[in-house]
Amino acid sequence: MPVESVFPRLEALLPHVQKPIQYVGGELNSTVKDWDACDVRWALMYPDAYEVGLPNQGVMILYEVLNEREGVLAERTYSVWPDLEALMREHDVPQFTVDAHRPVKAFDLFGLSFSTELGYTNMLAALDLAGIPLAAADRTTDDPIVVAGGHAAFNPEPVADFIDAAVIGDGEQAVLEITEVVRAWKAEGMPGGRDEVLLRLAKTGGVYVPRYYDVEYLPDGRIARVVPNASGVPWRVSKHTVMDLDEWPYPKQPLVPLAETVHERMSVEIFRGCTRGCRFCQAGMITRPVRERSITGIGEMVEAGLKATGFEEVGLLSLSSADHTEIADVAKGLADRYAEDKIGLSLPSTRVDAFNIDLANELTRNGRRSGLTFAPEGGSERIRKVINKMVSEEDLIRTVSTAYGNGWRQVKLYFMCGLPTETDDDVLQIADMATRVIAKGREVSGQNDIRCTVSIGGFVPKPHTPFQWAPQLSAEETDARLRKLRDKIRGDKKYGRSIGFRYHDGKPGIVEGLLSRGDRRLGAVIRAVYEDGGRFDGWREYFSYDRWMEAAAKTLPSVGLDVDWYTTRERTYEEVLPWDHLDSGLDKDWLWQDWQDSLDETEVEDCRWTPCFDCGVCPQLSTEIQIGPTGQKLLPLSVK
Ligand code: SF4
Repeated sequence: MPVESVFPRLEALLPHVQKPIQYVGGELNSTVKDWDACDVRWALMYPDAYEVGLPNQGVMILYEVLNEREGVLAERTYSVWPDLEALMREHDVPQFTVDAHRPVKAFDLFGLSFSTELGYTNMLAALDLAGIPLAAADRTTDDPIVVAGGHAAFNPEPVADFIDAAVIGDGEQAVLEITEVVRAWKAEGMPGGRDEVLLRLAKTGGVYVPRYYDVEYLPDGRIARVVPNASGVPWRVSKHTVMDLDEWPYPKQPLVPLAETVHERMSVEIFRGCTRGCRFCQAGMITRPVRERSITGIGEMVEAGLKATGFEEVGLLSLSSADHTEIADVAKGLADRYAEDKIGLSLPSTRVDAFNIDLANELTRNGRRSGLTFAPEGGSERIRKVINKMVSEEDLIRTVSTAYGNGWRQVKLYFMCGLPTETDDDVLQIADMATRVIAKGREVSGQNDIRCTVSIGGFVPKPHTPFQWAPQLSAEETDARLRKLRDKIRGDKKYGRSIGFRYHDGKPGIVEGLLSRGDRRLGAVIRAVYEDGGRFDGWREYFSYDRWMEAAAKTLPSVGLDVDWYTTRERTYEEVLPWDHLDSGLDKDWLWQDWQDSLDETEVEDCRWTPCFDCGVCPQLSTEIQIGPTGQKLLPLSVK
């Protein structure tokens, strides 16, 4: 049965909303396939506005991987702003895809990628607008299977009531496996209805289906155990890991946005995973092991992507791009090759100790020389040992000194406040560090217009990291500490005016912390926030701390808990954590030992360059570290 486009009805509303272009689709490299020629259809969502969602690499990759397959189609949908939401409700227009403006409810699968927990209320808004029951238990075979992915899905328990399934890890192969299960079930005439297809997915061992797991609680509120409630459903669900990035050169045809978006460049992921071992970093821990894309693979992706898009900037993405074993050759090769076309290169993240001036010069050769950004994360040497961010102040001063000496005028430094064991003094040392940076900059450049911006936000302990047991600092204490730092910087007569200070107050961090380490009992809080109008919680202008606290105060006492129990409470070794049955490959005892090492201020090396220190990922997932150098060069070498 053909599915009707909602565009004629939507079009009538667009003159009355802001930035209507974001809802019309038709971007360069977007795809519309014949509905009836496909038997498995995915609606993919990044649950934020178009301007943030469109450049998302995860969604872009899955969109292309699925659309390349015969008989499978994928379309995209984004969160609509409140002005359009109100009109859609008034005129009965459902949540739609931007590709063919088909109603989301008509699809077989509705996949959402959560990079942060603050997208949960936007998921509920989209489900409701789509006409899909919010509670998974109320859905029928007429509703899509709602699948969560992305980093936040490593603990999907707070949204267990609303999703049908979650996938942890890399999505490329996982979406194809899910597609085959759904395809077979549909071809058989959908035996057993929704329960059956979800059971088949759960039995694969790589898809988490919350309804097939029961959670039992202790009288004090902690979890006693999580037990599968159907035969053949595994006790633990495994992470997906793509082992050869060169076999998955996506996106091959990156989408070119119609409206303004947060990044307007093509991006190539040059490696996945990070084994530096920063203890606060969930992304590093859950994406292990390190898998590099080869230098020739990178070259081919850049060439194809630029040809397909016409972008003038290439972002070389990863968690710490300067750590690629052949980054110098990659940067030089690309800068040479695209010198005439003035294609700019950027590394969105650079470690202080991996920075070198030759690399920085190559990166800025064809483009603008903007500021340099580093993330020491902690203000004192002591706290950097606690978090295993092995950057000494000497390293930092040496690095910025080289940068200022070579013509850079701006350095941005990122920090966190509220790290385990942190005191006021650890944070106040950030001001001393910034002062030394400015002094050194003035000395080596002979100029007075040197600037250093300190950017700092509250630390949120995350699942699957050594800090998953740590108490989170309360919003009030975070804000008090940040105020002291601000006063110290502003009070510095000699250097204060050269130091910019940007901080995020502690309140959003508490909500993020509540959801990050939460369990199924938080479903009631999320629903109450949504029903009270909560949307776009990642946006300062929409986020309401009071709304979250009121919803928590209304719902959590019925289970004897409160927000502090989830956030500022330290967990013990024995406690069953809500995500323990989701296997990221990391050995829980290893994580605990690393937590103890952090309290002793003991550092751990990077296993790329030292023997394996048994975090568990490689044997558990039958994976291995894959790094170069390959010794190859970027091909073809001729200047383009
Ligand atoms: S198992 Fe060993 S080699 Fe593999 S990521 Fe962990 S520490 Fe590194």
